[in-house]
Amino acid sequence: MSLKGKTAVVTGSNSGIGLGVARELARAGASVVLNSFTDRDEDHQLASDMAKEFGVEVRYIQADMSKGDECRALIEKAGACDILVNNAGIQHVSPIDEFPVEKWDAIIAINLNSAFHTTAAALPMMRKAGWGRVVNVASAHGLTASPFKSAYVAAKHGIVGMTKTVALETAKEQITCNAICPGYVKTPLVEAQIPDTAAKYNMSEEEVIEKVILERQPSKEFATTEQIGGTAVFLCSDAAAQITGTTISVDGGWTAL
Ligand code: NAD
Repeated sequence: MSLKGKTAVVTGSNSGIGLGVARELARAGASVVLNSFTDRDEDHQLASDMAKEFGVEVRYIQADMSKGDECRALIEKAGACDILVNNAGIQHVSPIDEFPVEKWDAIIAINLNSAFHTTAAALPMMRKAGWGRVVNVASAHGLTASPFKSAYVAAKHGIVGMTKTVALETAKEQITCNAICPGYVKTPLVEAQIPDTAAKYNMSEEEVIEKVILERQPSKEFATTEQIGGTAVFLCSDAAAQITGTTISVDGGWTAL
C-alpha cells in the first residue's frame, strides 16, 4: 500500500492516535504534516526524527484547531493536502447540568468544527489533484453514548454525520470520506481520566483499567495507535477506493454488543 507522492495533513498529531496515524502514513511513503496547538521544540524534533526514520518529508505546522481561521491556515500552509486526517480532540467528563459552557464550546470547536474548516479548505486541493482521502477520527462514542460525556458524544455523532455528507458530496470525484471509530486506546487522553475515576470509585488505577475501561471492550485489550494508523492507511489505499461514507470500528467488539 504505497502512498508515495501523497501529502497527508494530520491534525493533533504530536501524541496518541494522531502520532500513530502520522507514523503509519509516513511508513507507507506519504509526506506528512504534523500539527498541534503548542509550538514546542520537541514537536519540530519529532518531525525531523520521523523524516529520518521513514525517509519521507515531515513538516510541523502549529495551528490551534479550536479556531476556524487557524484550521484553514493549516491547510493553506501545507500547500498540498491529498490526505486529511481530522484527529485533534479533547474530552471532559461532567453531568450535563454542570457541564462548564467553555468546556462544551471547546469540545465542539476542536472535535467537530475543526473538521468542517479543514475539510472545506482541503477539498479544492483534492479536486485539483483529482484524488483525495478524508479520514475522520471519530469514536465508539460517535455510535453509542456514555453518561457524563455529552459534548464529546455530540461532537463524535456530529462528525459521523458530516463524514456521510462529505462522502455524498464528493462521491464522483475520486475523493472518499470515512470515519474510524476507535474504542479505548491507551493515550494521554484516556490516561488523564484514570486517577479521577480511581478516586471516584475508590479503586486502584489497575482496577479502573480492568473493571471500568476494558469492561466495555469485549477483547479486554486496548486498541493500539498502530492499529488505528493501519486502518487509516487502508482507507487511503486503492483497495478502499469504493469505501466512502462509512465508519470502521476498531474497538475490540464494543459496538457489537
Ligand atoms: P491525545 O490527547 O494523545 O491527543 C490529542 C491530540 O490533539 C494531541 O496531539 C493534541 O496536541 C491535539 N490537540 C488538542 N487540542 C488541540 C488544538 N486546540 N489544536 C490542535 N491540536 C490539538 O488523545 P488521543 O486519544 O490520541 O485522541 C486523538 C483523537 O482520537 C481524538 O479525536 C479522540 O477523541 C479520539 N479517540 C480517542 C480514543 C482513545 O481511547 N484514546 C478513543 C476514541 C477516539
